[in-house]
Amino acid sequence: MAKRYLPPPIHFPVLQAKHAETSTLRSSTLVPPTKYLSKSPSSSSTALQKAINKNGCHRALSSHAGQPQHAQRSTNIIQRSSLPTSGKEIVSYGANQSLTVHIVNSDWKKSKEKNKIDKMYPTGSSQLSVARSYAGERPRQILRWLSTAVFKIFPNSVEIQCYFDISSGKIYISSNVTSINKKISSCSSGLFKIIGEIHGSLSEEDAGRTSRHFRKLLIRGVYKEQTDIMDALKNGDIVVPLDDHSVDLHAERRIAAMLKEQGKVLDPQFLAGVKRPCMACFYALNLINSRPGPLWPSKPGSFGYDPEKLMKHAYENGVISYAALDRFNRTVVLDHDSDSESDKDD
Ligand SMILES: [Zn+2]
Repeated sequence: MAKRYLPPPIHFPVLQAKHAETSTLRSSTLVPPTKYLSKSPSSSSTALQKAINKNGCHRALSSHAGQPQHAQRSTNIIQRSSLPTSGKEIVSYGANQSLTVHIVNSDWKKSKEKNKIDKMYPTGSSQLSVARSYAGERPRQILRWLSTAVFKIFPNSVEIQCYFDISSGKIYISSNVTSINKKISSCSSGLFKIIGEIHGSLSEEDAGRTSRHFRKLLIRGVYKEQTDIMDALKNGDIVVPLDDHSVDLHAERRIAAMLKEQGKVLDPQFLAGVKRPCMACFYALNLINSRPGPLWPSKPGSFGYDPEKLMKHAYENGVISYAALDRFNRTVVLDHDSDSESDKDD
């Protein structure tokens, strides 16, 4: 039977419109890490735990109280904001299933770029993520490599997100598609071996990100903060959400739903995937320190939310959307997170 997973109602802390960066969303609703880290005494001595304690950056939003709201669906996306003073504008891009809705600088039309997407995310824009280091985010880094590898094995997955639950020592892996999740689940115990076999058969087309992530995962050796996750992968300590949702719910929301059923709260510090979170996932999972992509107002992409209300709320609270610059093709891409640096120290 299809399960309905509805997100919490939107009530991110209200921002001054002039503060556009999501980092300023921090507010008194943040709770200290001990709130749920204390549930995992068995892992307290691990390198991973030590790294968390050392960094002291383990912050998360408290889960929202209140009942989920059944949102009215709407395809009538706002084209222009009602608050032009913020210097931002809600802009749609694409059509039909590929329709996306963004919050970008309101002067984007003045750009001399030819393509609309290049106008919206011009070179040098703070909203265009370029290659960056994952130093300080080592757990997310290895989960990203793993996501790339699983995505290569299951190309029809649309997206792969991986999560490490420190309380159980297990890796949660999900795609956007229930039938694919069943396939991932059926081979989870031997997944590490399969990844090794696939690595041996990568083609020239996989040069770049894919082969680099395989190499880092399998050959180069992992950082000490990543050893618990690597051990879980090698041991096949992997769980896959198998709940059938009424839509192709985004992967990270499937993981969050499974954790919720287990009485756990998703910690964004241990979540990574091939793609950056969309605006709906940003809200549904309280990914307050991440850089959301646009909203996909399609039914699966905005499930549980009214797309128009969500974007209006994001706009009014200074949330902006991000895209990535593909450093090989030098093109603006919406469908993956910014690349990790491949330099010698990363
Ligand atoms: Zn999403």
